[in-house]
Amino acid sequence: MAATLTRLSKPSSSSLSHFRRFTFNSNTATTLSRKDPKDRNVQWVFLGCPGVGKGTYASRLCNLLGVPHIATGDLVREELASSGPLSHQLTEIVNQGKLVSDEIIISLLSKRLEAGEAKGESGFILDGFPRTIRQAEILEGVTDIDLVVNLKLRKDVLLEKCLGRRICSECGKNFNVASINVKAENGNPGMSMAPLLPPSHCMSKLVTRSDDTETVVTERLRIYNEKSQPVEEFYRSRGKILEFDLPGGIPASWPKLLEALNLDDYEEKQSAAA
Ligand code: AMP
Repeated sequence: MAATLTRLSKPSSSSLSHFRRFTFNSNTATTLSRKDPKDRNVQWVFLGCPGVGKGTYASRLCNLLGVPHIATGDLVREELASSGPLSHQLTEIVNQGKLVSDEIIISLLSKRLEAGEAKGESGFILDGFPRTIRQAEILEGVTDIDLVVNLKLRKDVLLEKCLGRRICSECGKNFNVASINVKAENGNPGMSMAPLLPPSHCMSKLVTRSDDTETVVTERLRIYNEKSQPVEEFYRSRGKILEFDLPGGIPASWPKLLEALNLDDYEEKQSAAA
């Protein structure tokens, strides 16, 4: 039987006519059942503004913990590349820096979770989801999130990082050509981040995301503040959030993040076992 996600916020009368019930089919319901955390892998969420590094740190943690990294932005880009029925509509939304509807995102995520379930995946780190209170409520209605990591970085650095982002069109890995050196000013500490350059075989295949232009990134940051920042409060009020101010690039931030997550020993044990 299909699991119906009914624990939504009370809709206002104006939004009532647009009110839809989201359903996950039976496979997704199995994937997202409320298993005891002891009997499954971690179910974490990464929050943070565009360009903060959610993908970088979430994918590293996923490798360490052996869970899938599920980025809804990647699911959207896969849908765009597939030239399926949604691709035209999605291209316009993404290229304007707007959010795709909750309904479409839930449907893409459901499909991804079902495919993972079929392969025997357990646990996940979600990156870029939930991005609206409605999405957070829908997720809360079907499963327990153990921890939400809220990555933070100064605004001027976020823009530079988005503009420097490059993706290898062949292997799909993310790199960054920006070399960031911000001086300490008005009580804010200085910050330096070395570029994250690709190996030579990716160098000639680098592409820039079509939504990583200055105008679109500025709009994405505005939308984040309007629609996604309330999601931080949603999890803060439930005592699930770990606030993490990135102190710099990967060499400075990764060990500190592991320490904040009590995973520093875990990484040593994993490397020793490898
Ligand atoms: P990202 O790679 O996370 O920056 O996502 C790229 C684009 O995909 C976003 O600007 C949105 O248009 C869309 N998108 C990704 N995740 C979501 C989401 N959870 N809700 C709505 N739109 C999303």
